[in-house]
This record gives sequence, structure tokens and C-alpha cells, in this order.
Amino acid sequence: MTVYLVGAGPGDPGLLTVRAAEVLARAEVVVHDRLSVASLLDLAPPGAERISVGKTPRGPSTPQVDINALLVARGGAGQEVVRLKGGDPFVFARGGEEAAALQSAGVAFEIVPGITSAVAVPAYAGVPLTARGLNTTVTVVTGHEDSLSGGRTDWEAVARLGGTIVVLMGVATRAVIAERLMAGGLAPTTPVAAVRWGTRPEQHTVRTTLAGLGPAPVASPAVIVVGAVAGLDLAWYERLALFGRSVVVTRPPAQASALSGRLARLGARVVELPVIEIHDPTDGGAALASAAAAVAAYDWVVFTSANAVERFLHLLRDARAFGPARVAAIGPGTAAALAEARVVSDLVPERFVAESLLDAFPPAPPARGGRVLLPRAAVARDVLPDGLRARGWEVDVVEAYRTRTACPPPALVASAAGCDAVTFTSSSSVTGFLEAVGREALPPVVACIGPVTAATARRHRITVDVEADVHTLDGLVDALVAVLGRR
Ligand code: SAH
Repeated sequence: MTVYLVGAGPGDPGLLTVRAAEVLARAEVVVHDRLSVASLLDLAPPGAERISVGKTPRGPSTPQVDINALLVARGGAGQEVVRLKGGDPFVFARGGEEAAALQSAGVAFEIVPGITSAVAVPAYAGVPLTARGLNTTVTVVTGHEDSLSGGRTDWEAVARLGGTIVVLMGVATRAVIAERLMAGGLAPTTPVAAVRWGTRPEQHTVRTTLAGLGPAPVASPAVIVVGAVAGLDLAWYERLALFGRSVVVTRPPAQASALSGRLARLGARVVELPVIEIHDPTDGGAALASAAAAVAAYDWVVFTSANAVERFLHLLRDARAFGPARVAAIGPGTAAALAEARVVSDLVPERFVAESLLDAFPPAPPARGGRVLLPRAAVARDVLPDGLRARGWEVDVVEAYRTRTACPPPALVASAAGCDAVTFTSSSSVTGFLEAVGREALPPVVACIGPVTAATARRHRITVDVEADVHTLDGLVDALVAVLGRR
């Protein structure tokens, strides 16, 4: 029973610390701010209670005393509480007040530092806070109006220090701040970089000077960097291939992250809109269980999806259960799921479709025949079982899972419809999209992982703009970059 005051970092989920991920993973309660990124909240167990104490600028907010009382109450009741705060909890974040309240109530607490926006946001804009020869100090200062009206900050002294000045919460007061820094002796031509929504796909950098800062179009939340270093331009994030582009990922939540992660690393804004759900087989898995128990009696087990691999391997107590049975995987994603359980695929076809697998598959031994086990989705094409039977194999098709159309919330559908592109990684995701969302919500660019998925889309009168040459997630991302990318 501890209350963790955790820094969530500036926005990019990759900038969370390992310790923060650890404590989130076993949180019973997460108390978070408005700016918290949804995917970070997903790191907490599904059953954890999530309480937003969001502060909206000039809007309603939970008073700090109430937040303190909440933390004391939940921590005191013996719950594992994560208080998730943007950036670092002890940098302009009132984490000190929360810790003091916990301390005086005798509730155990731990501070998990985070990457502060004061450091990370300039980094993502390509502005080094220090540069040899340019500055020897960095001042991090709040621009909140209290710091101006109460005369609590000696801005002229900050100016005289002459190094890099990093202003948080200074958007509304930027004109006054600029004036006072100039009054303190900084040249009107001093470079300024104002970075809004830093480290996020919405990042936007405005470069100006101290004299230009007041009238410059800067909106909150932003980090404002003043000083010679702000004249350096090592921009990289805003130059990533998919920066400024938005892409819908239609895979079910458990599989979405592999694709979403790749797209996000290229700067894309990703909207995860699961249109299909994976469910247990119709018979509750009885047929799959008996097939798994008898797996050594087969000559081959053929896997056509990572889903089938996971569900099948889950039923094996011992990897040796395969005995003499050989293993085929339709593509590298499926093979990777097998490899995770240390099962090396004996066969992966050249192109990752059923037809190519058939071409590569050996004929059944003429004398005794042979048996193939094909655990797969309830609804699938018959190319593979028919083709294998034509080559003399006896084929047992066993239902490993079912896909069902999901029912995504309307707000999510609306934000997906406004995206630049949608990705389909299976035929069922195409039909799922049409059923769950409808063709009116299709973004302008449609990208398919391979010919089978693309054919399904075309059968439904969807124009396919992107078809991956290599039918893998990487192939899909490459093809998308070629069409949407800025290079
Ligand atoms: N504890 C936080 C700061 C909270 S004060 C930290 O260490 O980062 C809130 C201010 O932080 C905002 O007004 C803005 O100036 C800055 N900020 C936080 N996240 C930001 C982001 N992603 N992009 C730009 N500014 C950000």
C-alpha cells in the first residue's frame, strides 16, 4: 500500500520510465491529469479504477486539497495508488504538496521522476538546451500570471543571467514576459522557439524572436525557449516520414500495438479503431484442445495467423508435444509468434498468402498418405484445405477462434473518419469496418497488407490505394510511406 507520485513524461508514451510502467502495471487506482495520454492509462490493469482530476485551462478542475485528500484516503485504505502527472511530478506540478499531505497523514509514498517537458519538448523540436560556446546556464521558469502580478519572479535578473530561458505555462503572458526580458537587457533579436504539444504527433514549433513573441501565433500548452540555442535548428521529429499524417489501425487491441508503434515511430498520429474482436471458438475450444492433445499424430501443423498460434500453443504443456510433426507458417508474423515459444517454422512461403504456401508445400507421401492439422479462424478461405487435399493430404480444419464485428464508440469513429488513411491487415478487418463503421467513414487513402485483403476490399467496391509488396506489417508501413510520406 503505497501512493506513487509518478511522472508520465511529456506525452510520447515511449518517454515513460521503466519504473513508472512497473508501478502502473499493478495499480489499483490511477489518479490522472487531463493531459494524460490514453495509452499510458492502458498500462494499468483493465480493472483498475481511473480517476480524472483534470485541470482544463480556465475550466473546472478538482481543487488541490481534494486531490490531496483523495490520495490520502485511497492510500490510507491500503490501495496501490498511482498519481500520474505530466512531465516530472516535482517540476511545476504540485507533487510536493501531495507528498507533504501523504507524509503528514502517515501514508507511505514514493516519487517516480519523469522526463520533464522543459527538457524533452525542446529536444523533440531540435533545440539543445545548452550548446558549448552559446550558454552556460539554463533557467526553467513559470510564466503563470501569479509570477508576474505578484512580482515573484525577477524577470530582469533572469535576463541578465543570459543563458537559455525555458518558460512553462507562459503562453498567455508571453508578451509581458518578452517585454520584461528585453527590459532586463536581452536583445529584441534574441531567438525564440515556442513548441506546442511537444513529443506528440500534434507538435508544432513557432520560431521567432523576443520582439516577435507577443504577436506570434502560439497556443497552449507550449514550452517557450529563449536564447541563442533557440536559433539552432536540429529539427527531426517534425521531419519524420509520416509526421502530420493520421492513420487508422483497425486491428483488435491485442494486435494493434505492433502496427501502431511502427507508425508512431514515423511520426504519424494513430487512431486505433478496432473493428473486429477475437472470441473463443463456437465449441468453446473443445475441438482445438483434442487436436492439440493429438498433435504428434500429424505430419504437419499449418498456421495462418498469430492468433491461431497463440491459442494453440496455449493448450500445449510442453513444446516437445509436437513430436515429429512439422510446422508451417503463412508469413513472418505467424512465424514470429511461433518463435516466441521456441518453435521454429519448417516452412514459410515466399509470398505470404495461401497460394504461395500451397506451392511450397510437399505432396503427401504416396504410400501411406499423410495428415495436416489446420487450426484457424471460424470463417476463412478454402484455398488451403482444398489445395492440400488435392495434393493427397488428409486435412483437419479446426476452429481456433472466431472474429466478430466490434462496436466502436461514435467519437472514435468520427476521429477515424477524419484521418488521412486506413490500414487493413485482413479480409475480416475490411468487412468488419464496413459493418461496424460504414463506408462513409473511410478515410481518403485505403491501405491493404496483401492481395487477399485488397481483393476483399475491391469486392466491396473500395478503391485500394496502397497494397504492400511484402505482405507484412513492415511491408504495409513502407507502402504507406511511399504514398503518404513527405520524402
Ligand atoms: N510537470 C510538468 C509541467 C506541468 S506545468 C513537466 O515537468 O513537464 C504545465 C506546462 O508544461 C504547460 O503549460 C506547458 O508549458 C508545459 N508542457 C507540458 N507538456 C507539454 C507538451 N507536451 N508540449 C508543450 N508544453 C508542455
